[in-house]
Amino acid sequence: MRIALFGDIHANLEALEAVLKDAAEQGCTDYVCMGDIVGYNADPSACLEKVRESNWPVVKGNHDEDASGEHSLDSMNPVAAAALEWTRDQLTLEQRDWLRTIRMVRQVEDFTVVHSTLDQPQSWNYVTNKFDAMSNFSYQFTNLCFHGHTHVPRIFVRDSRVTEVEADSIVIELGMKYFINTGSVGQPRDGDWRACYVIYDLPTSTVTFRRVEYDLATTQEKIRAAGLPDVLAERLAEGR
Ligand code: ZN
Repeated sequence: MRIALFGDIHANLEALEAVLKDAAEQGCTDYVCMGDIVGYNADPSACLEKVRESNWPVVKGNHDEDASGEHSLDSMNPVAAAALEWTRDQLTLEQRDWLRTIRMVRQVEDFTVVHSTLDQPQSWNYVTNKFDAMSNFSYQFTNLCFHGHTHVPRIFVRDSRVTEVEADSIVIELGMKYFINTGSVGQPRDGDWRACYVIYDLPTSTVTFRRVEYDLATTQEKIRAAGLPDVLAERLAEGR
């Protein structure tokens, strides 16, 4: 069994389709979504419907929550807030209801999935270093947990202490815990513009990061045609 794990799609349909095509070519038969299906980019409805109709296990991201609600977005950064206001208008009430029902944490096979962290999933904390990762591990009861939220692929490992491992691929060993950020499909922020996701190969217990090129120009055109802030189109090319 080979499982594709991907999140932070952020309404980037071209990137999502490229990832799904690559995953199928890589022999993946199962798919798990790390949340933040919508927000920032111009195809929220199409991305939502793709995830929903596929019936993949999915966890809720902060943009899914914000798009589903009516609450004020004033405390958010203005660009993200503008995109979310626009996203709310694009989605039907029924689609927003569906976003609201998504669970915060799920267990799939032998691993756990959460958008931000297991210690306080509702707080949407960002894990950017091993110290941030420590509190998550106290609440992680499976060897392996996948998450997203920062849009930066990372591997944290807890043995007798917590370390960050830089690798494109890692073998999961018993007795250790792994907290792996699958990066972002639709708005990578690690300086590489290509869509990012991981493949978990269960027979070999191996997790491998994949980077996939997609039709960036079309995504940028759609963002501009929708009247979304231009910076959202520009940042995609820079992977930030
Ligand atoms: Zn996100």
